[in-house]
Amino acid sequence: MTDSTALLPIYDFSFTLNADYLKKIIPLLTRHQIAANPINYAIFYDYVTELNPSLTSAVNRLLSQNTVFDSETSLELYGNFISNASLKSFDNIQQQIHKVIRQATDAINDTCHKAEQTNDSFQKKSAILESKPEIATTQSILQEIIQETKSLAATSHAMQMQLNQANAEMEQLRNELARVRQMAVTDGLTGLLNRRAFDQTLSEIIEQPDGETTCLSLLDIDHFKRINDTFGHTIGDNVLKYVASLLKKHAEGHHHVARYGGEELAIIMPNTPKHKAIEISENIRIEMEKSRLKRKTDNATLGLITLSVGIAELHVNDNPESFITRADTALYQAKESGRNKVMH
Ligand code: GH3
Ligand code: MG
Ligand code: MG
Repeated sequence: MTDSTALLPIYDFSFTLNADYLKKIIPLLTRHQIAANPINYAIFYDYVTELNPSLTSAVNRLLSQNTVFDSETSLELYGNFISNASLKSFDNIQQQIHKVIRQATDAINDTCHKAEQTNDSFQKKSAILESKPEIATTQSILQEIIQETKSLAATSHAMQMQLNQANAEMEQLRNELARVRQMAVTDGLTGLLNRRAFDQTLSEIIEQPDGETTCLSLLDIDHFKRINDTFGHTIGDNVLKYVASLLKKHAEGHHHVARYGGEELAIIMPNTPKHKAIEISENIRIEMEKSRLKRKTDNATLGLITLSVGIAELHVNDNPESFITRADTALYQAKESGRNKVMH
């Protein structure tokens, strides 16, 4: 079943990152004399986060042409790229499904109609043959029967083609639907599950645990603000993507890797004993500590980048909040005791 709110845009950045964005958006709006109304704010929010590349290029185009951001322009951008991009995809898919079904039904109806006509015509001819069995009549009726049979075969062949095409189109639509569904649960930057998908997965697992032990690992990049401040947000984003790739590499196939918050990532580990959760988290921490990331443009090193990790094991009476809080408390202890640690 589709949760309609899953189609709304998801904003799961941290408080501080949102504050950073605010500081960029307002001067940008002022510089281009664009009203700071909620619609324009949303557009320029997506613009400065750079998570919506189609919107970014559309806005860049408009800015370079000095287009006035009147309400029509704003609403068009908002409608096309933010509010209901996914809803529109669903709408398109729905319309196309209707079209395919209509075309297939029309083809079937045509064939049925033609078959009925041919049947009527054959019955009439049979009556004529009974009343006038002369050879000339028989020959001409036979010619007509051959023609009508050919025509019916052609109609039924056309229907077959139409049904084949409908089948191919349905297959395409199924793929498109799967793509849109995937987008609704994916974090745009890291490709991990987004916060909404994390919440849903965690609730489902708590309601119906799979196996004896479930663990949750929360991983937070140490002094990430410093990385952003020193090297800029784009490099910060790339670091975040790299950390996400480490999680994907070390997590097991049945684990769920998600972006929990701005620079906080998480692994939900069903059917995983605590010692295994610790081992996986340690491996990620160690690989991060050993990584020497470099800036692509000039090969400058980004220095030591580390992770702090908190692990909790699911208890019988846990709800998502109590479970997350326990992992978060362990994460806090990892930070307090010097960072670059796994605590549980
Ligand atoms: P700590 O070791 O205590 O975790 O320090 P920290 O600097 O990592 O933590 P803090 O919460 O002070 O700052 C988190 C920073 O993460 C602030 C914000 O700018 C940055 N951040 C969050 N999400 C993103 C993102 O998507 N991209 C980039 N580049 N930065 C992000
Ligand atoms: Mg941090
Ligand atoms: Mg954090």
